[in-house]
Amino acid sequence: MRLLRFGLWFWLLAVAVGWPLQAAAQVAQEANFPVQALTSSAPSRIEVGARMGVLVDPTGTLSIEQVQSPAQAWQRIDRQSPNFGFTHDSYWFRFQIDNRDAQTLARFIELPIPYLEDVQLYHYVGGVLQIHYTLGAQSPFAQRVVRHPNFIMPVQLVPGINQIYLRLASAGTIEAPLRIWDPVRFYAASNDENLAQGSVIGVLLVMVIYNLFVYFSTRDINYIYYIGFVASYLMFHLSLTGYAFAYVWPQAVRWNSFAISTFVASSAFFTCLFTENFLRLRSFSKPAFYLVRSLSWFYALLLLVTFVLPYSWTIRVGASVAVPTAAIALFLGYWRWLRGAKFARFYCLAWTAILIGLAVLSASKQGWIAFNGWTENASQIGIILLVVLLSFTLADRINNDRTLRLNAQAVALGHERSARASQQALIQATEHANRELEQRVASRTNDLNATLEQLKSANDRLQLLSTTDRLTQIGNRAFFDTSIASELRRATRQGTPLTVMMLDIDHFKRVNDTHGHLAGDACLRALADLLRTRIHRAGDILARYGGEEFVIVLSATSMAQSLHMAEELRAAIESMEIRFEEKLLRITASFGVVCAVPHPTQTVQNFLAAADHALYEAKGAGRNCVRTATLG
Ligand code: GH3
Ligand code: MG
Ligand code: MG
Repeated sequence: MRLLRFGLWFWLLAVAVGWPLQAAAQVAQEANFPVQALTSSAPSRIEVGARMGVLVDPTGTLSIEQVQSPAQAWQRIDRQSPNFGFTHDSYWFRFQIDNRDAQTLARFIELPIPYLEDVQLYHYVGGVLQIHYTLGAQSPFAQRVVRHPNFIMPVQLVPGINQIYLRLASAGTIEAPLRIWDPVRFYAASNDENLAQGSVIGVLLVMVIYNLFVYFSTRDINYIYYIGFVASYLMFHLSLTGYAFAYVWPQAVRWNSFAISTFVASSAFFTCLFTENFLRLRSFSKPAFYLVRSLSWFYALLLLVTFVLPYSWTIRVGASVAVPTAAIALFLGYWRWLRGAKFARFYCLAWTAILIGLAVLSASKQGWIAFNGWTENASQIGIILLVVLLSFTLADRINNDRTLRLNAQAVALGHERSARASQQALIQATEHANRELEQRVASRTNDLNATLEQLKSANDRLQLLSTTDRLTQIGNRAFFDTSIASELRRATRQGTPLTVMMLDIDHFKRVNDTHGHLAGDACLRALADLLRTRIHRAGDILARYGGEEFVIVLSATSMAQSLHMAEELRAAIESMEIRFEEKLLRITASFGVVCAVPHPTQTVQNFLAAADHALYEAKGAGRNCVRTATLG
């Protein structure tokens, strides 16, 4: 949009100055030395620009004497603002002032085109040179007769005909909207003009400073582009109106000769950057983005070359590219807006304002609409509108962006909250599940332990049942088989003697037969109880071997001790009285004893067979006695 503005500005400039072709077409093909009548009561400001003779000097070598020659083909200008556009030619103008008063009149001749490089004015009366001014942007400002941004040339107009010759040369455009002023009125008008210009400059300056502060708080790069543009435009404006040369760099003649070009390029450069960034072209349209980006590079380059290449070249390039650039920027703004980018609306409005302002100014310069204070200042009004609206545009978009950001933050916050709530719920569920699992595992473990306990005790009971004799409650044959095997291994390992003692109730059949089977059972129980009280050393074994036959195993016991033990048992049995149903029963038993340190090759069977053999001998020897045997 800045581009647009610049384009528009240049368009305006070009129109205002007038392209050479247009101007040429408007020069009448006849010699001309117009006369302007003047009296002390005449209007205080007289526009003579369109009422001059003009002579083009393509070589730029004609002298004042040569142009005064009747041979020169002077032509007539017949429009209000004589623009000759970009040209390298020198231009001569002439007109006559017929002072109809009786006294000399002091007047100012104003040329309000401050950037003209060479301005010379000759005042002749009756062929005698009255005064010669050599002015122009190439002379230091201090050389000016009247300290004013425009070229002001005081003349003393004697009564009768005064001839004025003006020579203009410029690397840029040539225009000569010459005016004759009553000095008093000139200063009054100049004050008004200064106020108007000061207002424009003030507004632009304020916008630069204000937006600089906004930039420091927002850090939005668009503000920098905007400030770059406004500052560049301000400097362009100051250069173009001559205020820069008058007040900013009055000595810098060379810089002043091309500063306009530099600021045109810099304004256009910032316009491109602003347009690209503000309209977010990169994400909007790649072709538009590359186009504007290339233009940025082009203007950056142009900005640099304004310092080295001739002004006449850089100003032409800048002016010719500015119009299409501006058109592109304006088009992109509206395109963006139509595609739903609401933030582009003030942007479009801003550039449209300057467009209208420039259109009004150029139309008035062309004479299409009335030329008045409003139309003359239309471009200034447009510029101020543009600058203010653009600043507003930035604020508007920052506001929009902030709203969007806040909304997005709110949404994100909502998401985060619900995510956190879900997470919390998940954690609780997990904890609950873990607790439940732990409880279940604990209860299952308890169940399992209880079951194991039950199983163990059941197993123990079973074990006991399977190894205990029901009748006598001492170990049974199975118990004996298991126990003696380990005792034999131990005795073999330790090399200690092992005693196996077998005893059998004598004539037990008779007990059964005489007193009944139950009496026999009572005898068996009584015998077991007796044996249990005597056989209780760790490692000793007592078991019912079968029927009325018992077996005793003694570990680490000598044969003598074993025999002694057997004898004691035999005597105890013999003396035992068994009460059964009011009767007293007595039994005896025979003993077979074997005692040996077992050899690894010897088995339980060897011991049992030997003990059995000894028992058999005891039976044979009359019963109720103890017999020993040795291992075979
Ligand atoms: P010996 O002096 O030769 O050993 O004569 P005995 O009568 O003891 O000989 P035998 O081995 O012929 O008889 C054993 C008897 O023991 C036969 C059986 O009726 C009896 N008997 C075996 N087991 C039991 C039992 O559990 N209860 C009772 N009441 N009698 C039993
Ligand atoms: Mg027997
Ligand atoms: Mg017996």
